Order: sequence, then structure tokens, then C-alpha cells
Amino acid sequence: MSELEGRSFTCDEKCGLCCLCQAEVLPHEVPFFKNGHPSRIVMKEQPHRHVALALKGGEGPCTFLGTERRCQIYADRPHYCRQFPFHLYVGERVQVELDLSCRGVWYGGKEDALVVGGRMVADNADTLRRTLTESRAVYREFEANCVDAGIHRAPEALRRNMAARIADLADVQYLAKVLDLSAEDEEMEALPPPLEMPEYERGELEGSARETGLESLSAEDVFSAPVYCDPAGRWNLLLASQGKVEWSVMNDDGSLSPKRTIDPRQVKLLFPEGEGIEVFRSYMGTLNRRDSMLGYAYYLVDDYGYEDPVANTYYGAMAAAALDLLWRSSLVAHINGGRLDRKGMIEGIIAYDMDRLDAPTIGAFI
Ligand code: SF4
Ligand code: SF4
Repeated sequence: MSELEGRSFTCDEKCGLCCLCQAEVLPHEVPFFKNGHPSRIVMKEQPHRHVALALKGGEGPCTFLGTERRCQIYADRPHYCRQFPFHLYVGERVQVELDLSCRGVWYGGKEDALVVGGRMVADNADTLRRTLTESRAVYREFEANCVDAGIHRAPEALRRNMAARIADLADVQYLAKVLDLSAEDEEMEALPPPLEMPEYERGELEGSARETGLESLSAEDVFSAPVYCDPAGRWNLLLASQGKVEWSVMNDDGSLSPKRTIDPRQVKLLFPEGEGIEVFRSYMGTLNRRDSMLGYAYYLVDDYGYEDPVANTYYGAMAAAALDLLWRSSLVAHINGGRLDRKGMIEGIIAYDMDRLDAPTIGAFI
């Protein structure tokens, strides 16, 4: 539960961001909805067959989100809603992760996150034990495949090496170097030391950051695009399409108000400054400790057919995440008219972390 240490939580009632994620209804919760609200649940086939709460207009916020973004069934809301922004992640062990897109974890709260997380673990102990057995079997298979392919590396060593270089990840020259080395066949024994001289053209670096940022904003349609809930509680949808960013705001009834098209070349790549540097480093440190991030790198290793060293894949995934975060934060600062000081960096993380936690991984959120 280390991710929860020192954090507190209070739901920011004007936010409602988590009510945009279609909540799953667990089997024991289905009778309540079937009996009382049969038209407000739907059957979903992906990622597995399950019942979920209906959305306004089919793609907007939850059908139960009422005026002033108040839940109309608060006392009976499903498990998913009760648990957010806490996630129980099961990989080789159980880890509690916090969705840092939730505004309620950033600006001081009434509830101690460690206490809430501990309660959730206790309440779900049986499911966690059962899932852990299954998940460990998958991890053992993954490790055996890596050993066979000669690409295995102990996770503790990867994280230790990464932690020693976290401070350098705010340097885009350094990120480019790590990304270059990670793409080579030769395994990286450790991360390179900080660069003494710039090695890359600034224009080239900005182009790579833009490309990474645009890729992470691409989606099938605007309703699947990344959402950023801003300080005023507006739900901003940012969709990359044909090399531009289409910016719309979703209204409470699920309708869309187009804002404008942003030319990504007008988005100046910014870097953390002042207290924003510590916010950036602390977040990258959190990613480095998150089992779901490691599980994401493992997913990539598996997806690439066990051809790339685990170390290169992990360092590359962390560097790509840092570059993506910097560009996304710059885009948000472009919209809000700010810089990447403490507040600007926090807004960037709010706009980014939900997608990070949505990334494929070897393991399961329960
Ligand atoms: S995302 Fe967090 S702050 Fe926003 S409504 Fe959900 S729990 Fe509350
Ligand atoms: S049931 Fe309530 S808390 Fe859950 S998503 Fe719907 S409106 Fe939000």
C-alpha cells in the first residue's frame, strides 16, 4: 500500500469523472438493478461478458448521475463506484494503486488513503487470495518464457536502476537517449548516466514528443477519447485525428459541445519548473513502483514475442510514459494558459493517469 502513504482523499463533488467510466455491476448486485431499475442496466461483451450501468445517450455519463452531479442511488451504488479511485491490482502480489486522475486525491482530504485502502483489502480478502493464485501461475509462465528466451531480468534490479535515474527523466535529451538505447538489440545493463552535451536536435525531440502524445490521444471515436476533468469540473475530451487534436466538452446529458481544433505544432513542449519538478519526479517514482506498470512492460514483452530484453522494454516504457506525460501536460497547460509549475504539473497528471491505468497489463484489477 506504499502508493497510499501520506495521501488523503475527499471526493470533489463537482468532478464526476469516475461516473464517465461505465461501472460494472457484480453478479450479487444484479438483482437490485434488475428488480428496481431494469432499463438502466445493459449487457456488455467486452472485455468479458458482464452487466454494466447504462450511460446517458448510450455514451455519456452514468444514467444515475443527477443534477449537480449527485448520484441518485448513492447508498446502493455498485462496488466499482465505492472503490474508486482505489484499485486493487493483482500480479505476483497484491498492490493498492490510486487513480491520480481523481481530483479528490490532490488537494487535501478528510480520509486517510492508507486506512481506506486497508479496509478495501480486508473486505476483499477472499477474492484477492483466489485471484492471486491464478495470477501467480501466469507470472510463473511469463518468467519461464523469458528465461527460455534469455531475456529475463529480476524486477527489483530494473526498479533500482530506474529509481537511480528518475531525476533525469525530466530532461528530454536524456529521454531520447534511453528510448534510442531501448530500441537496440543489445541489452541495457543499466540506464546511461546523464548526458554531458545535448545529442539531439530540439526540433526532432519536439516532433517525437508530439508523435508520442498524439498516439496516446488517438481513439476509435470521440467518446472513447481521453477525458480531462479541469478545475471547473468540465469534462474535456481530447481526440487526435488526422494530425490535429479535436477538443470537445461533454455536457452532463452526454451531448458534446465542440471547442476547437488544436494544431499540435502550436503546443510548446514545456518542462517542469519550481515545485513542478518534484511533482513530476514523485509521479515517475510512483510509476516505477506500480506493479501494473511493470505488468505493462511484461505485456509488451509477450506481445513482441519474447524478442526484446525485458530491461530494454521496461526502461523504454518508462521513458515513453515520461515523454507522453510531458506532452500531455504541455497540451493541458496550452488549454489552461499555464506552465508546468506545481499546479500545472498536477493538472497534467490528472489528465494522464487514468489512461496509464487503462493500459494493458499482465495482471488484473479487481
Ligand atoms: S474522480 Fe474522484 S473526485 Fe471525481 S467524482 Fe470520482 S471520486 Fe470524486
Ligand atoms: S452509480 Fe452513481 S456513483 Fe456510480 S457511476 Fe453512476 S452516478 Fe456515479
